[in-house]
Amino acid sequence: MQERRKSTNVLLDTALQEFYGAADEMGLDEKLIAVLSHSERRIQVSIPVEMDDGSVNVFEGYRVQHSTALGPSKGGIRYDVEVDMDECEALAILMTWKCSLAGIPYGGGKGGIACDPSVMSKKEKERMSRTYGARISPIVGKWSDIPAPDMNTGGQEMVWIMDTISKMRGELEPALLTGKPVSYWGSRGRHEATGRGVATCGLELMKELGKRPDKITAIVQGFGNVGSYTAKTLNDAGVKIVGISDVTGGYYSPDGIDIRKAFECVHSNPKRILTGFEKVGNCEKIDDVLFIDADFLFPCARDGVINRKTAPNIKASYIVEGANGPITPEGDNILASNGVMIVPDFLANSGGVIGSYFEWAQNLQGVFWTEEEYNNKLVHIMKGNFRRVWDYAEARHVTMRRAASMAAIERVAEVVAMRGTFL
Ligand code: GLU
Repeated sequence: MQERRKSTNVLLDTALQEFYGAADEMGLDEKLIAVLSHSERRIQVSIPVEMDDGSVNVFEGYRVQHSTALGPSKGGIRYDVEVDMDECEALAILMTWKCSLAGIPYGGGKGGIACDPSVMSKKEKERMSRTYGARISPIVGKWSDIPAPDMNTGGQEMVWIMDTISKMRGELEPALLTGKPVSYWGSRGRHEATGRGVATCGLELMKELGKRPDKITAIVQGFGNVGSYTAKTLNDAGVKIVGISDVTGGYYSPDGIDIRKAFECVHSNPKRILTGFEKVGNCEKIDDVLFIDADFLFPCARDGVINRKTAPNIKASYIVEGANGPITPEGDNILASNGVMIVPDFLANSGGVIGSYFEWAQNLQGVFWTEEEYNNKLVHIMKGNFRRVWDYAEARHVTMRRAASMAAIERVAEVVAMRGTFL
């Protein structure tokens, strides 16, 4: 039996140990455990960028393909100071389970660049994105590995990367990556898809609990792409959002935050942040929204925010993970002993990659769906997947995280068993 992997990187170790735990509970064959606990490809690239002041910075970039068992590896590209190979691998593993659970024909991948995009000009980011695209070009493609936006990246970055690779290959490659702007091969609905999916999971959970949305209070931590559309979708369904936050701090209103005003505030700011929202939004500025007394908490900012230190002070009874990996294993244990129910990230935020699949499928056919068609299909799939995990958890008396892991691993294992270990 091959020795099991451990990592000093918390996110990677969490992904590995959750996999081993679920695999053991399912009685998965040791050979499959060995195969699936390793990534097929981990590449590192250097990205020399001429900065606006004439100096040259060499950034480190990564792309990890954890598994292509079910299809091309799929997953975002993030720009963040904390990006490294292990973080990308952890997130790539998560993508394998996310795509498997979602029922879409993809494996898992993730990439990124270690950088601080908030201090870079648009031109610097363009040069960095294009060079990164050129460097990863040999391993990405519509049938091999399909990138998408992730933390601090969006349609603009996708266009730079796609444009560079298309020029290198001498033909347009729209299905090479997803999350493109609507005006350039993107899909209406993709931008809002992750948040819409997170909120849908929250609303389905309320239904299971027999609670009406208009009797529920919620906190949404993070007001970027995921958080803002999670808050909006919940709010539209009648949920009272009592706290929101972003890099500028937390905002609290027991009467309910005006989400429309929060969108206006963010859109009127070139950095797309909530600067000064306490004045226009008529709410109180606070340090941390995590500890507000509310029914539901939607952490949509970044990984590791609910941990050994913060978990004991959480008052919400239900957590729906909008970000990838917002709860550490220690945090998870504390919440479990406090009876908090958690909808795991790779179910809750899978609306993004399901929406990416819709975009890719349209690009391959050269057709465009209406926004209504896109949203209806997305919500239908999210509801079905939520129910499947809920029923699986009930039947086996396990948490939703464990149930989701087991259901996801089951599908991958079935295919690896058929295809063989050389994938
Ligand atoms: N970055 C998103 C995620 O973590 C979307 C990935 C994709 O669409 O490929 O799920």
